[in-house]
Amino acid sequence: MTQPLLRVNDLVKNFALKGGILGRIVDEVHAVDQVSFDLSAGETLGLVGESGSGKSTTGRCILRLIEPTAGEIWFEGRDIVKLDAKELGALRRDMQIIFQDPYASLNPRMTVGAIVGEALIIHGLAKSRRAIEERVVELLETVGLGADHMRRYPHEFSGGQRQRIGIARALAVSPKLIVCDEPVSALDVSIQAQVINLLEDLQKEFGLTYLFIAHDLSVVEHICTRVAVMYLGRLVEIASSRDLYTRPLHPYTEALLSAVPVPAPRAKRQRIRLEGEVPNPINPPTGCHFHARCPIRQLPLCSTEKPQLKRAADGHWVACHLRG
Ligand code: SF4
Repeated sequence: MTQPLLRVNDLVKNFALKGGILGRIVDEVHAVDQVSFDLSAGETLGLVGESGSGKSTTGRCILRLIEPTAGEIWFEGRDIVKLDAKELGALRRDMQIIFQDPYASLNPRMTVGAIVGEALIIHGLAKSRRAIEERVVELLETVGLGADHMRRYPHEFSGGQRQRIGIARALAVSPKLIVCDEPVSALDVSIQAQVINLLEDLQKEFGLTYLFIAHDLSVVEHICTRVAVMYLGRLVEIASSRDLYTRPLHPYTEALLSAVPVPAPRAKRQRIRLEGEVPNPINPPTGCHFHARCPIRQLPLCSTEKPQLKRAADGHWVACHLRG
C-alpha cells in the first residue's frame, strides 16, 4: 500500500479562554477532538461541517498556522508537529492555503505582481526582477488573468478575480498540498462554479492534492473524491463522495444532505430540520455531541457513551451507536 501524502492522527486543538484581572485560564474551547484521516496524493478530501465544527481549525493546524494541542500530522512520512522553525519554513513551499475571504486575504497596499511574486522572493525561486515578472505573468495567465493585471491593486478586481489572485499566489511555490478554506463561500453562486472548475483544471495540470473545507455539502459534491463530515470538533463520518451522497449513515450527514438541492428529475429529498443550534464547544454535550439534536437518539446510551468511528463498509466510516 502506498503511503498517503498526509496522515492526521488523533489531532486535538483546545483554545484557552482567559478571564479576570490576572488573565488566568478559566476555560477551554475544544475546537478539534481526536480527528484522524489520510489524504493520498492527487486526491481531494472535503471537510464539511457547520460553523464551529472545527474544520478550519483542523486545516490551520495541518499547515501549522496554529499549533495543535496534541496529535500527529505526517506529511510525506515526517511528523511536521515536531519540525523546528527552519524546517517548517522549507515545508511552507509544499503546503499552501487559499483563504475564504478574497477581500481580506490580499494586502490592499501591494500590487498584484508584488502579492503573487512575494513567495518567489522568500523562497529564492526567481533570481532576477525579470525572472520574477515572467513567472508572475505565467501564474496570472494560468489562473485566467493577464499580464496587464500585474500593476493593479486588489480593490480594482471583482471577488472572483481576487480569488484567482489568491490561487496564483498559492501556486507560485509549486505546492503539493493546498488547503482550500471555504474558497468559494464569499462568492456569488455564478462565480463559485468557475472557481471550482479552475481548481479542478489546476489539479489535473499540476497533480495537486486538496483539502477542501466547506460548510455545506452542495459545494464539495463534484470536486471531492472523499468527504469527511465534522460536528463540534469530531469527525462523524468519512466516505467516498459517491457513498456519502447516495448512502449517508450518520443522522447529521443526512440532515446536511437533505438541504442540498437535487436537480430534476432525481427524486426530491425530504428536508430534515434539526432541533436547536450547534452547542457551545466550551461545554459540549456528553456522550455523542450530536445527541441533543439527533432525531433517532437512544437515551441514555447516546448521552453517556462517546461513539467511536467504526468501519461500516469499504472506505466508509461512521461514529454513531445505531448506524454502521
Ligand atoms: Fe444520534 Fe446516538 Fe448516533 Fe449520536 S450516537 S448520532 S445521538 S443515534
